[in-house]
Amino acid sequence: MPQPRIYLSPPHVDPLSRNLLLDAFDSNWIAPLGPHVTAFEKEFAARLGLEDAAALSSGTAALHLALQMLGVGPGDTVLVPTLTFAATVNAVMYTGAEPVFIDSERQTWNLDPELVAEELARAAHRGKLPKAVVTVDLYGQCADYRPILSACRQYDVPVVEDAAEALGATYDGRPAGSFGLIGCFSFNGNKIITTSGGGMLVSAHPEFCERARFLASQARDPAPHYEHSHVGYNYRMSNLLAALGRGQLAVLDERVAARRAHFDAYYGQLGDLPGIRFMPEHPRSRPTRWLTCLTIEPRRFGATREDVRLVLEDQNIESRPVWKPMHLQPVFRNCRVRGGTVSESLFHNGLCLPSGSNMNEEDRTRVVQTVCTVHHRRQVPRPAAAA
Ligand SMILES: *Cc1c(COP(=O)(O)O)cnc(C)c1O
Repeated sequence: MPQPRIYLSPPHVDPLSRNLLLDAFDSNWIAPLGPHVTAFEKEFAARLGLEDAAALSSGTAALHLALQMLGVGPGDTVLVPTLTFAATVNAVMYTGAEPVFIDSERQTWNLDPELVAEELARAAHRGKLPKAVVTVDLYGQCADYRPILSACRQYDVPVVEDAAEALGATYDGRPAGSFGLIGCFSFNGNKIITTSGGGMLVSAHPEFCERARFLASQARDPAPHYEHSHVGYNYRMSNLLAALGRGQLAVLDERVAARRAHFDAYYGQLGDLPGIRFMPEHPRSRPTRWLTCLTIEPRRFGATREDVRLVLEDQNIESRPVWKPMHLQPVFRNCRVRGGTVSESLFHNGLCLPSGSNMNEEDRTRVVQTVCTVHHRRQVPRPAAAA
């Protein structure tokens, strides 16, 4: 009989979320907007130490509105990390601007601050600065913000922070999502907390949240009839999903602790295998370990990342290669890239292990044992092939 499937990062719901969702349902506030949306925004903003937040239909919608509000449009360029999920770049494409891909650094796997500074200096020299820089806090770890923000400040280029994978992480003790002029979160089904689908836009400048709410609900001007002087979007979060989100937010700390505990266990049980290295932790940062990621050096480990992934799959365990860099994606093949070898090597050797906050110890042990088997199997000299 096949073993039950272990997923990479499945939703993890709880009784409070269920009760709030049913409360929303029973109150007949099924329409978008309603008391749970406002309450979720207030609670989320408070959690980040901010005044306001805007609940939206997805993280991608939050990124799109953030760029739009900063005036990004056709003819502009936007610096983005090449190692990310496509949604980061898709949001840039929606505005008509052109992404310029920047390689990762080894320490955080995020935007290389030196390359950002170099690219900004070159752009300033050419007389055309990028309209924005999008940072991504990959796999639950913040980018190295001190040098990145200092370079962006020097040239007065605004930062949009894609913190979709990093809710609950900190850097210098400050929460992920609070480093950009605008920060964006996702509550997609695989994220650390979920509303099945949803997003949040945050900023220390409440005007951006106000504006985002306006644009996200079809840009309706104040009037008894429908009056419009801007092109709007249907990007608002529904009251039902906001109710779910409130319950999820209340247990965020437990979710972070569970994911970090998985990392600690993986690190303890796999960290000594030759050729295995985990995503490093920057000294200023406290990642959530949304996903535990490692790289496998085939010659030392005795098998490739793909060998390991396939054996895991064979055991009904879901794992996934690290993001394929955007500069290698067919759809973005004509875009410019600075560097690229670091992200390429992370992609070739990188693997994300099951990290769900509802995974139990027994399942995690199955993952560990399977990875160990691949290593040990390769250590045994193969019988000589029949001549
Ligand atoms: C999940 C994710 C998004 C998109 O969020 P959605 O809510 O699915 O639209 C954007 N950026 C990154 C880095 C993500 O991981």
